[in-house]
Amino acid sequence: MVEPGTTTGAGAVRAEIISVGTELLLGTIVDTNGAYLAQRLAALGIDCYYISAVGDNLGRLTKTLSRAFRRSDIVICTGGLGPTGDDLTREAVAAALGEEPFVVPELEAGLQAFFERRGVEMPLRNLKQATLIPSARAISNPVGTAPGWWVEANVEGAPRTGIFMPGVPFEMKRMWEQEVEPALRHRSGMVLVSRTLKVLGAGESAVEERVADLTTGSNPTLAPYAKSDGIHLRMTAKSGSEEGALSMISALESKVRERLGDLIYGTDDDTPQGVVDGLAREIGLAYCALEVGFGGDGVLLPTFENQPGFRGGLQATTLVEARTALGAGAHADTAEIARELATRTGANLVLAVSADISAVDGDATIVRADVTSEVYSANGLKLVAQRQSWQVPRGEVARVARLLALNLLRRKLIAIKREGVERIAE
Ligand code: ATP
Ligand code: MG
Repeated sequence: MVEPGTTTGAGAVRAEIISVGTELLLGTIVDTNGAYLAQRLAALGIDCYYISAVGDNLGRLTKTLSRAFRRSDIVICTGGLGPTGDDLTREAVAAALGEEPFVVPELEAGLQAFFERRGVEMPLRNLKQATLIPSARAISNPVGTAPGWWVEANVEGAPRTGIFMPGVPFEMKRMWEQEVEPALRHRSGMVLVSRTLKVLGAGESAVEERVADLTTGSNPTLAPYAKSDGIHLRMTAKSGSEEGALSMISALESKVRERLGDLIYGTDDDTPQGVVDGLAREIGLAYCALEVGFGGDGVLLPTFENQPGFRGGLQATTLVEARTALGAGAHADTAEIARELATRTGANLVLAVSADISAVDGDATIVRADVTSEVYSANGLKLVAQRQSWQVPRGEVARVARLLALNLLRRKLIAIKREGVERIAE
């Protein structure tokens, strides 16, 4: 990710986030508002320098806000806009800026109408939700009672923006997305664009090694992450325009692709099974799956379930069980079982995966999995095979085997696509 502080020049805008509520300090709730806003600011290209949490205490809240207005261009605050005695954000903003709150008749009428619709009289304590200070305007909140405050003030000679939103996450998010973000978008002058390349078939360190020199830049950045569907290489660029950021990303992407080639299976929302399916259908091939020896854990069948090119498959605990299920002979091998399965499902290719799982050092949580993946043609010819041993937590065996098998089929499909489909042996 981009480090705060990398922006220089006229576009640089410094923001900070303040989350208000004693619950945060007691640890009874986690500051998800702060995390959400931090992500949104990053996507806007606005540097966030501080995130603080402060309790429902007028003195400390006022001090926190004063400090924020002195050091940050934009102060974004959530919580404490409710009607009760411990909702003190408005009072604290007024105190920090030395202004007097006043009731706004239109806001009061809006509140009255809100309560009328619910058939109850507005409690007097809600009146403070209809107040503003001279430097604030209301930010509408159709999903709750409290409007937000958008403050434009001059603090020690510097123009400052304060954005005050409700603490309830869905009210806050709606207000942010509908009312605040569109207005801020123009402010930063900086756009942050990210794109992820997804890799299968090499370990994290091997991938990192090949792109090591590309990961040291500060803009664009390239960062590897090990994820459940392979290794992600996240590229992020910051520029004055979206086109600028996109062209930086595509230049970096070309370099990464030069280094990693077919190890890259997709981008952003691509999944290994989706990519395999796309390739198979592009070539005009349908496929089915055979999985043996995973003790009931679904490896390929549930993964392929909704893919249009998938014709079904068989999940068996042992080879004997697979033979029985397909009515194959007592000595039928995997190739014969695959042929039978292809005939029944009408598939052109069979992806078979099996595993021998054994304990490591008597420790039942970590196991050794010898995973065999094979691709067969419809007539039972073994087109490609691979056997790999992994030491993994027991619960990870199915995932590891799935990726190995999917990647084997993916590589085979790429080869078929290059060489022509007629090259699959008769
Ligand atoms: P209300 O009108 O409901 O009182 P408010 O603006 O006063 O709204 P708070 O009272 O501070 O907001 O918070 C209301 C609820 O929203 C909290 O009880 C909590 O469940 C949730 N909430 C508040 N702040 C946060 C936060 N920073 N992160 C996640 N959830 C929060
Ligand atoms: Mg409250």
